[in-house]
Amino acid sequence: MSSDKNYQVTSNFSELTHDFLSSHLIAPTPVNYAVIYLYISNENEQLSAAIDTKVQQNGLITADFMADLFKRYISFSEQIENTVISPFEVTLNKTLDQISLQVGNGEKVTKSLEKLNTILTKTEHHKSLKHIVGYLFDTISSTKDQHQTLSQELSATQQEINQLKDKLASSREEAFVDSLTGLLNRRGCDDKLQALSFTDTHSSIIIDIDHFKKINDNFGHFIGDKVIQRIAKTIKGHVNDQDVAVRFGGEEFLVVMPNKSIPEAKKTAENIRLSVEKMKLIQKETNTYLPPISVSIGIAQNKNTPDWAGLFKQADDALYQAKNSGRNRCICAL
Ligand code: GH3
Ligand code: MG
Ligand code: MG
Repeated sequence: MSSDKNYQVTSNFSELTHDFLSSHLIAPTPVNYAVIYLYISNENEQLSAAIDTKVQQNGLITADFMADLFKRYISFSEQIENTVISPFEVTLNKTLDQISLQVGNGEKVTKSLEKLNTILTKTEHHKSLKHIVGYLFDTISSTKDQHQTLSQELSATQQEINQLKDKLASSREEAFVDSLTGLLNRRGCDDKLQALSFTDTHSSIIIDIDHFKKINDNFGHFIGDKVIQRIAKTIKGHVNDQDVAVRFGGEEFLVVMPNKSIPEAKKTAENIRLSVEKMKLIQKETNTYLPPISVSIGIAQNKNTPDWAGLFKQADDALYQAKNSGRNRCICAL
C-alpha cells in the first residue's frame, strides 16, 4: 500500500471513529478514541467482537465498559502510538497545512477550533495527544493573530492607497483646471487636444474682455475676478461636452470646437457675445450696477494651418481685427 493510500485509510478511520463516538454519545477521550479506532480499523478481533456483541444486545456503551476494553486489549505502548497518535497527528498536521493555506478563510479556522474543542475534554490525555493538541492550538492562535494583523495591515494599506488615489486625482485636476473659473487651463487644453486628429475639421474661438483694465482700475481686482468668473460661466453655458473651453490667459478664453466648421463656431461665438452684452452685474456692497461689459471674439477653422498653434494664431489675428474695428463683435479669419 502506498503511503498516500495509507494516509487516506487512517484518515477515514479517524473520521469513522469520530462518527461512531458521536452517534453513540461516547465522549471523545483518548481512551474511548483508542478503543473505537481499533474497533473501526478491525485491528483487534477480540475487542471488535466484544463491541459487536454489546451493540447487538442494544447495550449502552458506558465509560466503564470502554475503560474495561482499554485495559484488556490495549496497552499504552507501541500499539496506541502506531494506531492512534500517529494517524491522528497526520490528520492534525494536514489540518494545520490547510489552515496555513486558508489564511483569510476565518470559517475554516473556526471549524478547526471547534473540532479541537470536541477533542479537548477535561479527562486525562495521553502526553503525545496533549502535545499535538497544544501545538495545534498555538499554531491556530498564531495563524489567527497573523491573519488579523495581515488583515489590519492590508486595510491600512488599502486606505493609504485610496488616499493617494484621491490626492492624485485632485492634483491631476488642479494641474489641468483653472482654479478661478473651473475651465481648463492651457495644460488641460493640451491634454484634451491630444485625443483629436488635426486632419479632421475643427474650429476655435478666442474671446477677450473689452477694456477689462478699466474694470480693475475702477472697481478693484476682486470685482475684476468676479467678472472673469461670470464670463467663464456664460461661456460654459454655450458650449457642449465635446467642446474644449479654456481660460487661455488673464481675461482671455479659448474654445476649441472639434468637428465643427466656421458657421457653427460663429453661431456659438455670437451667442456668447450677446449673452455677455446682456449681462447685468450688481456690486453687492454698494448695490450699484457695473457698466455694461462686452467681449470681442476671433474665429478660425483649421483649413490653411499645419497645427493647433497655427489655428489659434489665426483666431487671435481675427480677434485683433475685432478689437481694431470697434470691439464687442465676432470676426472670422479669412
Ligand atoms: P482690450 O479691450 O484691448 O482687451 O483692453 P483690456 O483692458 O481688456 O486689455 P489689457 O491687456 O490692456 O488689460 C488686461 C488686464 O487684465 C490687465 C490685467 O491686470 C488684467 N488681468 C489679467 N488677469 C487678471 C485676473 O486674473 N484678475 C483680474 N482681476 N485682472 C486680471
Ligand atoms: Mg487680453
Ligand atoms: Mg481685454
